[in-house]
Amino acid sequence: MKNQEAIQYEIIYSKIKNVYIQIKDGKVFIKAPKRISKKELEKIIYQKSDWIQKRLENSQQKQERKKLYTEEQFKQVVEKNAKELIQKTGLIPNKIRIRDIKYAWGSCSNNKNITINFKLIKYSEEVIRYVILHEICHIRYMNHSKDFWNLVRHYMPNYKQVKKELII
Ligand SMILES: [Zn+2]
Repeated sequence: MKNQEAIQYEIIYSKIKNVYIQIKDGKVFIKAPKRISKKELEKIIYQKSDWIQKRLENSQQKQERKKLYTEEQFKQVVEKNAKELIQKTGLIPNKIRIRDIKYAWGSCSNNKNITINFKLIKYSEEVIRYVILHEICHIRYMNHSKDFWNLVRHYMPNYKQVKKELII
């Protein structure tokens, strides 16, 4: 068990039934029901301390990530990989844009417009390539079905390994 004292957290009491633990910007926030006793709450935090520690480390590493390219270089990496993957898969997007988006690494709309998250500027070319491939494969399958993942694997056999980097 990790040293619980080391974990700094903020407790937010509200009208909820369960305890929620949130890691944001390298900090731990605990949402708890108003009626919970301090002892009960401490027990929950203690039980979850390994999980919290792990998430906290990931969150802090994410904050420390540095840009690996200039904006122009990043644009070129996206363009180059998109071009190659379009040729390989024969799946043609309508448009590929780079935007700073909040909740995803990339997206593909029904109109085949692909958006790649600008935050990927902090990731290796392999990771960027994976995100582009993922979105291009959505042109054929607008879901995360088995067929979808088989298609991704076909063009990037080690995608599971590459994908792991995106958690951090
Ligand atoms: Zn997807």
